[in-house]
Amino acid sequence: MTDFFPSHNRTGTPVTSTVMLMTTSASVPTTSEGAITTGTVTDRLVEANERYAAAFTDPGMDARPVLRVAVVACMDARIDLHAALGLELGDCHTIRNAGGVVTDDVIRSLTISQRKLGTRSVVLIHHTGCGLEAITEDFRTELEMEVGQRPAWAVEAFRDVDQDVRQSMQRVRTSPFMLHTDDVRGFVFDVRTGMLREVDPA
Ligand SMILES: [Zn+2]
Repeated sequence: MTDFFPSHNRTGTPVTSTVMLMTTSASVPTTSEGAITTGTVTDRLVEANERYAAAFTDPGMDARPVLRVAVVACMDARIDLHAALGLELGDCHTIRNAGGVVTDDVIRSLTISQRKLGTRSVVLIHHTGCGLEAITEDFRTELEMEVGQRPAWAVEAFRDVDQDVRQSMQRVRTSPFMLHTDDVRGFVFDVRTGMLREVDPA
């Protein structure tokens, strides 16, 4: 491996975790048991930040996203949101979790995004090969069996990604807290081609 951390682009857009996570297993020293020594990964991130900060110049922006858009997406390491959508530093809010699910906490973020920081559009991005297609709500029972406590949250597993995107759009559109629901669109990102496919809300 020649360059663990790719350089930053001209606009100072932060390097996403995608490359790092995809290369971690091959490059991070392991213990004799084969476990990743987690401190080493974080140390690498901190070192990368030192280089980032050294080249960083204050963009002079306030916190309101330039494009007035909030993007809700799965946390999947193969989705580089800024690169895939042509976004620059300061353009958007990005809200990510397992599945890109519109949970109460995502509604919390979207509410603040719209009411306090001026965004008007919402883009939802799910993707092919999502980990949530491979598990079921039984995961909660498995956890309960293992640790003696059932999580309060739903796993939000799904089988049909289009239907999952539609449900997410519906949750945003029907939330009483949203100020703007006329521009809510949902997509499936293909992790093998990099293409977005829009999901019909109907
Ligand atoms: Zn996913």
